[in-house]
Amino acid sequence: MQFYSTNHRSRQVSFREALLKGLADDHGLFMPVEIPSLPAKFFAQLRSLSLPEIAFIVAEKFINQDIANSALQKIVAESLNFAAPLIQLDDDLCVLELFHGPTLAFKDFAARFMAKTMSYFVQNAERELKVLVATSGDTGSAVANGFFNVPGIRVIILYPQGKVSRIQEQQLTTLDGNITALEIAGTFDDCQRLVKQAFSDNELNRTLFLTSANSINIARLIPQSFYYFHAVAQAPNPNLPVIFSVPSGNFGNLTGGLIAKKMGLPVAKFIAANNANDVFLNYWRTGIYQAKSTLTTLSNAMDVGNPSNFARVAELYQHHVSEIRQDIYAASFSDEQTKLAMKEIFDQYQYIVDPHTAVAYLGLIDYVRHYPGRYTKIFLATAHPAKFSEIVKEVIGSEVSMPERLHTCLNRPKQAIPLGKEYHDFKDFLLKL
Ligand SMILES: *Cc1c(COP(=O)(O)O)cnc(C)c1O
Repeated sequence: MQFYSTNHRSRQVSFREALLKGLADDHGLFMPVEIPSLPAKFFAQLRSLSLPEIAFIVAEKFINQDIANSALQKIVAESLNFAAPLIQLDDDLCVLELFHGPTLAFKDFAARFMAKTMSYFVQNAERELKVLVATSGDTGSAVANGFFNVPGIRVIILYPQGKVSRIQEQQLTTLDGNITALEIAGTFDDCQRLVKQAFSDNELNRTLFLTSANSINIARLIPQSFYYFHAVAQAPNPNLPVIFSVPSGNFGNLTGGLIAKKMGLPVAKFIAANNANDVFLNYWRTGIYQAKSTLTTLSNAMDVGNPSNFARVAELYQHHVSEIRQDIYAASFSDEQTKLAMKEIFDQYQYIVDPHTAVAYLGLIDYVRHYPGRYTKIFLATAHPAKFSEIVKEVIGSEVSMPERLHTCLNRPKQAIPLGKEYHDFKDFLLKL
């Protein structure tokens, strides 16, 4: 499979190049030249396949030839070594729990798969690959965990001092080994600026083998299609049409679902559930895309005013909003509605959700109110409620128990290197590493 840039259809690159580059030279996003379809035989046996088995079949369609089958088998087995169960809350109402990975958020799927594929391509490289990541919290911890102890790769995480939560900071700074955390005396924007400047610094790029692990990498998108197949495989009533509600920020998760559908997965509708950041909803209603500045909400991993994967969604539908509307329904919800939904889900089903997952639930309910009918209704749980224990406690009045793996990292010593926000300090640091 070759990959093209959303800015220039003509110049194509291999999976390896798309993965190691992240962003195309013309600053477009990489997309597969075609979405491969899966044979009827695959769908006939879907219910008997495990998540790693599904992942291998799906990934192989995109990666064929670039990674040997036996190596790809190992990559999916090692990166998907945790469950993604579909939990039935009521007759046709289900929640897909995507938070059973090491950092308790769905970003583990993508980060782990990307880490293992990058490691495959650099195994015989002369130089260590240095992965630079600027983070405001969650992406950094998934990336750090995904790359932890991966041979041939060093990860340098930049995070803004005093601006991430305690849990997030512990997740970023307690791994050690090949993970280096830099505590930058500045904002998230400063961290991002330092990383960008490093990538455009010719001298640095001659000396070092640098790449990024940001959310637009195509290798983060492919694994986000696997669990949609796995969810359909677990549907309690296989005869009902399936709808998925996806709590969305940069739209990577939803794009993974759209790819699964284009590969042949029967999905009646996707619901793009947003918080108050409603750029996509406005586009969906009017056909006009207009980025906005970001609003701060309770579901902060979805606080995005210019979703980076919007270009990919548009590309999948040849930029026709009417076709997008056939597959996707859009909705946006306030923090007040989000809290009420957390309470409602707890009262009705004794099930605790974090604010992101509550937004997905709201999207589902909104869709069914407008289009009543029988469906397997699935909303995606993207984070474990223990990651948002304060707001959960405030809303439902009881404590969420903390999973063991979160507990362990909270007790380990923080190891971060403090650094100013001047570029020359960061560059010196990289050159001495
Ligand atoms: C990143 C994130 C999202 C948003 O996912 P996108 O792929 O950016 O749309 C939703 N929920 C949680 C918990 C996240 O960390």
